[in-house]
Amino acid sequence: MTDPVVPDLTSLPPMDIPGRLPRLRASMAEAGVDAVLVTNLTNIRYLTGFSGSAALLLVTADDALFVTDGRYTTQSHAELADAGVAARIEVPATMAGQREAVAGAAAGCARVGLEADDVTWSAQQRYATEWFPDAELVPTSGLVEHLRMVKDAGEVARLAAAAAIADVAFARVRPRLADRPTEAAFALELDTEMRRLGAADVSFETIVASGPNAARPHHRPGPRTITDGDLVVVDFGALVDGYHSDMTRTQWVGAPSATQRRMWEVVAEAQAAGVAAVAPGVSVAEVDAACRAVIDAAGWGDAFLHSTGHGVGLDIHEQPRVAGTASDVLAEGWVVTVEPGVYLPEHGGVRIEDTVLVTADGCEAFTRAPKDQTV
Ligand code: ZN
Ligand code: ZN
Repeated sequence: MTDPVVPDLTSLPPMDIPGRLPRLRASMAEAGVDAVLVTNLTNIRYLTGFSGSAALLLVTADDALFVTDGRYTTQSHAELADAGVAARIEVPATMAGQREAVAGAAAGCARVGLEADDVTWSAQQRYATEWFPDAELVPTSGLVEHLRMVKDAGEVARLAAAAAIADVAFARVRPRLADRPTEAAFALELDTEMRRLGAADVSFETIVASGPNAARPHHRPGPRTITDGDLVVVDFGALVDGYHSDMTRTQWVGAPSATQRRMWEVVAEAQAAGVAAVAPGVSVAEVDAACRAVIDAAGWGDAFLHSTGHGVGLDIHEQPRVAGTASDVLAEGWVVTVEPGVYLPEHGGVRIEDTVLVTADGCEAFTRAPKDQTV
């Protein structure tokens, strides 16, 4: 295995942001709405390139109105222009002004879609009575999220760069486990290294779970000193231009017990089986089943406490869920994690996670870090 390469973040290829509004309009037609008010900020970022914290986007068949507030006048014009997105930008001084601008753009639209998974009850009531009193409001779900499942080349480059930063940071920081740091100190080292390598932020709060804490899948790193005989679960990622990476490695510190060794081997085999199952046309439930079959055969089915994986992109957890109860069928360009685990309170826990891109005939891992066990 060659040393992981630090990615060059100055030459990331462009994303096809202008192509997204036309695809949304096709989805709107299928959903039977004349307009959709996009309120989810991640979806607005996806459609326009805007990365600020306040905006609304009203999309109709032949128009797109982007509304923000005075803090983002300059930034919104710059980001939408950089993205090549054709949308009118308005920056009203008041909420009433925002309402008038959006209601004006939606005038004549009989059916206005709202993002049902994002809009609060009180906001829905305001939209119904004050913003769009003459329209029928239609709850929509996943209109933009569905488009986001297929990553374009620019998105793939950002996801790969984020994963490479995490790989390099882990390779550099992992030997420090030999010094027996606390969980919190090791997490800080890892987070700092990812920032040094150019990550805009960590992808999510880094998990370092040692000894008995490793039996809790989402343990927060704390003051516990990592000790001989521990399994140490390290789950972390880097953020690059809005895109997240997600990986987990489990290390042995000192000599593992026979059970711990077996846990690691079973999870590694399950994870490899899951990755081997990922291909276009395969249902996410089949990927979940491939992992679960290995763990079930070892007698630890009840100790695999979570689903197998999830989509990754502008959100750390996005569509699809990779679970036995989900029905999505994988398609080329989707990005999912494969992260089975076994958690036994008396022995600790093991989870191994790679993020993979579904390709034309299988998948390719963004995560390249070796799955070595011992420090
Ligand atoms: Zn993870
Ligand atoms: Zn994950």
